[in-house]
Amino acid sequence: MIPYGRQQISADDIAAVVETLQSDWLTQGPAITAFEQAMAERCGARHAVAVCNATAALHIACLALDLGAGDRLWTTPNTFVASANCARYCGAEVDFVDIDPATWNMDAERLAAKLRQAEAEGRLPRVVVPVAFSGQSCDMARIQALSRQYGFAVVEDASHAVGAEYLDRPVGCGAYADMTVFSFHPVKIITTGEGGLILTNRDDLAQRLQRLRSHGISRDPARMEASDPAAWQYEMQELGFNYRITDIQAALGLSQLRRLDTFLARRRELADRYDGLLAELPLQGPSRQAGARSAWHLYVVRLQLDRISKTHRQVFDGLRAAGIGVNLHYIPVHLQPYYRQSGFKAGDFPEAERYYGEAISLPMYAGLTDAQQDTVVAALRALLV
Ligand SMILES: *Cc1c(COP(=O)(O)O)cnc(C)c1O
Repeated sequence: MIPYGRQQISADDIAAVVETLQSDWLTQGPAITAFEQAMAERCGARHAVAVCNATAALHIACLALDLGAGDRLWTTPNTFVASANCARYCGAEVDFVDIDPATWNMDAERLAAKLRQAEAEGRLPRVVVPVAFSGQSCDMARIQALSRQYGFAVVEDASHAVGAEYLDRPVGCGAYADMTVFSFHPVKIITTGEGGLILTNRDDLAQRLQRLRSHGISRDPARMEASDPAAWQYEMQELGFNYRITDIQAALGLSQLRRLDTFLARRRELADRYDGLLAELPLQGPSRQAGARSAWHLYVVRLQLDRISKTHRQVFDGLRAAGIGVNLHYIPVHLQPYYRQSGFKAGDFPEAERYYGEAISLPMYAGLTDAQQDTVVAALRALLV
């Protein structure tokens, strides 16, 4: 089976992990700080806070903004459930903004319209989570302008977009979001096994995130309530978690980061190649935005069902039967049984639902060979024509 995504681990990665295992620090050590600094530098952000996964990152990002009961968080239905669940962890309500049928990202015009209505009803969101679906940024300039107009915070879920660029700057540079979250799950652009990271330019948020990832504890005498604290002193100043990443993982991340540009170049090459090879087939391929460069976490095609004699499911199952590990990103979050319990139903976000009825994620990862890609295209062609 050719998978839809997979990690690429080099001898250097393995050596970096082994070296850390033999060092004094398996966790709370220097590899974490080194990884954070390297990521902040690469993305042009003031602060990076590494945690055990992107789900935890989204959770403490919301807590750092004091999201709580009675508040609202809006995100896109075309995402992994974690982009919405972070609100529920904080006791806040979730709502969605439908997608743009061309980019498959949150539609900024629909966001503007929904905000106008929410303002009239006194139901404005406190946080909006745009998701850089497949590695391509949303219309962040427009979303930022709306955030200033309506007073919500922006937490960008860039789990797919490590190394992507938007308006000629790195995603995560902090120009368009209060915080940007990355995931280092093995299918993403670079991996730490499990891992996540939050980038921010705001000192107050960075401090709060550092405290929240480690039990709400501060060990910095300058930030303690106690005057003249003893050497053993630490203070739990709020309710936090153990969301730490290990040095073993951070060492892997730092080693992977050195190959980020190589990974991105190969993904971009594969995307261009798919564009060419699939051009004649009854498909809608991914769009490309002016001024932006996707990290190409995913390469999704939408079947033009009126030009095909098979159903979406038949094509999907046919590809799996041919040994192509295709996937579907994403089942609209509002249609998950948990979210249906809060009243969401089919028809609420028609563009995301239509997309879901047509989309297939083809294999896309740095280690995919041209020959494997040709096999994918041949299998797809055989099913479509
Ligand atoms: C992978 C992913 C997450 C969750 O990442 P983890 O590191 O697995 O917790 C969140 N949002 C999106 C859009 C993702 O793709």
